[in-house]
Amino acid sequence: NELANLMDVPVTKVIGTCMSLGMFVSINQRLDAETLAIVADEFGYQIEFIKPEDEETTELEEADNEDNLISRAPIVTVMGHVDHGKTSLLDYVRKANVTKGEAGGITQHIGAYAVSLEDGRKITFLDTPGHEAFTAMRARGAKVTDIVIIVIAADDAVMPQTKEAINHAQAAGAPIVFAFTKVDKPHANADRIREQLSAMNILVEDWGGKFQAQEISAKTGHNVDLLLEKVLLEAEMLELTADPKKRAVGSVIEAALDKGRGIVTTVMVQSGTLRVGDAILAGSHSGKVKALTNERGERVKEAGPSVPVQILGMSGAPTAGDKLYVMESESEARVVANKRLQLQREQGMRATKHITLDEIGRRL
Ligand code: GDP
Ligand code: MG
Repeated sequence: NELANLMDVPVTKVIGTCMSLGMFVSINQRLDAETLAIVADEFGYQIEFIKPEDEETTELEEADNEDNLISRAPIVTVMGHVDHGKTSLLDYVRKANVTKGEAGGITQHIGAYAVSLEDGRKITFLDTPGHEAFTAMRARGAKVTDIVIIVIAADDAVMPQTKEAINHAQAAGAPIVFAFTKVDKPHANADRIREQLSAMNILVEDWGGKFQAQEISAKTGHNVDLLLEKVLLEAEMLELTADPKKRAVGSVIEAALDKGRGIVTTVMVQSGTLRVGDAILAGSHSGKVKALTNERGERVKEAGPSVPVQILGMSGAPTAGDKLYVMESESEARVVANKRLQLQREQGMRATKHITLDEIGRRL
């Protein structure tokens, strides 16, 4: 019916066209993208698809106020071939941060954590396993990572997964900083890695190229501080800013049901400030922020841009990569969540109802 109205043709004609394509549709049925394009074409129309993401950005996200913009910490993902030292690097950074005397230390694994350097500058690390999480989030339209650290073991070589990680980072438009790790090992040879990269048209800075690279050891911690410096230099060039005064927008990093606490959702706040008491929407779930905890397991009242937090108070577990929005009210959040749930159900039903031409042929 909606499509017929848009094209200004009788709805019976649209239904007839669908039937001739082997689909027996009701007047209120929603059609998938491919069918829409085919049916519209029959009537001489071309369909232009607008991503729901774009629509929602205007609908659900408040615009930034230029006067309120402040710089925010870069959000960094570590990628690389298995066993090249991703976890070791993340662990070293996490522990080094603890020894800088911050109370409590990072005790919780919440999928992300923020570290402060001695001079107060901050970096937020996404601590999700491998690049699967990175690609899964990107597939859902979430752009959470600002900079990618690609770890390559200097005693090994550029491996297939290294190349994949480079491709993913470049496809996402995220700048890369290379970490040549394990330089404490006797057979480490970072120049061999530089050479292999140059064979892929990736020239590192000390070879006159544009890519920053740093030799490190995650075992001894050698030059890890220099690596973080390079990440911060990259961040400076990106001029990352956010408006902390608007209603918060973020991305879901992970969500799970905790026996004692209910649904626990880790969110990376990307702009605005998330507060206890806020009405929230993520995927087809809504709720109200009952409590916020940081990576140290401490209760916090609010979380600003580039700050990861755990939220208690969602009605159900959203999916990694879902956008989180603070809404005017809980009821408004619930209405949108229910609408999305209904759409999902319809899509599920359509998948089972869709009859192919081939099947019709067999039936006749
Ligand atoms: P991941 O699979 O990329 O997360 O790699 P891991 O961090 O688990 O590291 C794989 C192995 O390499 C482990 O046995 C680490 O102890 C070791 N390793 C990681 N970084 C270093 C390093 O800088 N020096 C040395 N000697 N060993 C390292
Ligand atoms: Mg690992």
